[in-house]
Amino acid sequence: MFTITVSRKVFEISKLLCRRIKKEWYAFALGKLLQSDHNPDFQIVDMYLPRQEASATHVYIPSEGMLEISDALVEIRKHNKNWILLGMWHSHGDLKCFHSRIDLENINMIYQSFPREYLPAVIEYERLGPEILNEYRAEPIIDKGLRGFKICFGSLCIELNLRQEIDDEVFFTTWYAHLYTIKALPEVLRGYFGTISIFTTSIKVSRRCVVSVVVNNHDQIEGKVFLYGRNSDEVDAKIVIRDLDEDPIFANRELLNEILSKVKIG
Ligand SMILES: [Zn+2]
Repeated sequence: MFTITVSRKVFEISKLLCRRIKKEWYAFALGKLLQSDHNPDFQIVDMYLPRQEASATHVYIPSEGMLEISDALVEIRKHNKNWILLGMWHSHGDLKCFHSRIDLENINMIYQSFPREYLPAVIEYERLGPEILNEYRAEPIIDKGLRGFKICFGSLCIELNLRQEIDDEVFFTTWYAHLYTIKALPEVLRGYFGTISIFTTSIKVSRRCVVSVVVNNHDQIEGKVFLYGRNSDEVDAKIVIRDLDEDPIFANRELLNEILSKVKIG
């Protein structure tokens, strides 16, 4: 389950901006990722509006906008080392909140434009299988002396490299006996109990992502997380609006007119 926690202060300023601008506008969401095992929480602590022209239909992030946030990020990270660029925050004006094709293009552009350390990365466990365990192999890797072990469960093979040659017959026979015991397990289960073992494998992977929040003039909000890696996925996130410990730097009431001065309303 993915959560996007929005600082109440950021949401309030976003509502004010919607009321004043009325059309579509965009900002970059800043904050941090709190990672607990399977429940990443993306905390939006601040947002940064680059110079832009508010449009009635679609938000395109021009290259100047990307340059502006790149410079701003260098500055931000001097003061808040743990803040990263989480992704995009934009308004649909009077339209409902959803992710359009152009939004996806902007999100892909953010993903492609920033170095690894600027964007969040979630830890995931990629599951393989289940497979019926009908092949199990365990063999020593020998090159003069013992160099390691290779163990295969069906399609999964693990190689343990000892990184030195162990020329010790007692060690070899003791450990080979252990491998043989494990090897016998599925056969024992099948022979004595008639059960056919299956197995699954999990591989821990880190996937970079871009968070996206869409708001509108009716105080509606939608959040998604776009994951990249071997394949791309999008996940609906639960939005939680609450007070956060850290205060926004850019998005605060005193700066409202300064922020608005960056938005040309066409
Ligand atoms: Zn949009």
